[in-house]
Amino acid sequence: MKAACANADALGVSRVVEIDTTGGPGFGFEHFKQLDFLADKEVVLTFDDGPWPSNTPAVLKALADECTKAVFFPIGKHATYHPEILRQVAAAGHTVGAHTWSHANLNSKKMTEQQAKDEVEKGFSAVKLALGAAPSPFFRFPQLQHGPAAMAYLGSRNIAVFSCDLDSFDFRAKDAAQIVNTVMTKLDKQGKGIILMHDFQKHTAEALPTLLGRLKAGGYKVVQMRAKAPLQTLAEYDEGLVKDMKLPTVSTRALSNVVQTVAQ
Ligand SMILES: [Zn+2]
Repeated sequence: MKAACANADALGVSRVVEIDTTGGPGFGFEHFKQLDFLADKEVVLTFDDGPWPSNTPAVLKALADECTKAVFFPIGKHATYHPEILRQVAAAGHTVGAHTWSHANLNSKKMTEQQAKDEVEKGFSAVKLALGAAPSPFFRFPQLQHGPAAMAYLGSRNIAVFSCDLDSFDFRAKDAAQIVNTVMTKLDKQGKGIILMHDFQKHTAEALPTLLGRLKAGGYKVVQMRAKAPLQTLAEYDEGLVKDMKLPTVSTRALSNVVQTVAQ
C-alpha cells in the first residue's frame, strides 16, 4: 500500500494508526492522559488554521519532499476562501479534521451551547463543502480552550478531540529557526509526542524542511493518524452553508446597470 517515494533518504511514515472515534476520545497529553499510544521517538505532525495561500502549499511541499504525512485542522471560513488549497491537502493523503467555523473560543463565558455547536458543525460542513467529501471526525479547539459543554457535545457526535503533547508556539516565533529550536528542545526532553504547528504561519512553512530533517537525523519517526470512518456531517449545516455562500441580495438590476467601466 506504500506509495513510491522519490527521496530514498526520506523521513517517511513509520506507522499508520486508525482511530475509532466512538465517544470522542481525547489525544495530546497537555489535556488528555488516557490514550498513550506513541512509542518512544514517535511523533505526530499536526497543522492548524489553514488553508492559506503560499504557507499551506509550502508546508505540503516540505511534507511531500520527505514523503511524510500529517493531520490538518482547517478553519471553516478559510476552507470556504481557499477550497482548492484544502483539496490539495486531502489529495496528498493527509488527514483532514476541523478547527471550528471562525476560530471562536468555545470556552468563552459569552459562548452559548448552541453557538458552540454551530461553530463545530459549520466548521466540519465547510471542510466537507471544500473537499467534496466528509472530513475525519477529528477536532481541535481554538487556543486549546476545551469548553465542558462542547466537550460533551463532541463526545455525543463521536468526534475525537486533539490537544497536543508539544506546542511549537510557532505563531509567536520571530523566525523559522526559533520554531525548529522550540520543537527539538521539547522533543528531546519528552521523547515523543503530537506536535502542534500552524500551516497558516509563514515561519512554520519556512521552518518545516529543516525541522523534518532534524527529526530524521534525531531518529524520530512519524506516525500518521487516520479515522476509522469519516464524519457524518449534519444536513442542516451543509445546506445552511450552501445558502450562506450564495449571499442572496434583493437587487435584481442587470449587471450593466450596476457596473459601468468608466476608465480603462
Ligand atoms: Zn487555531
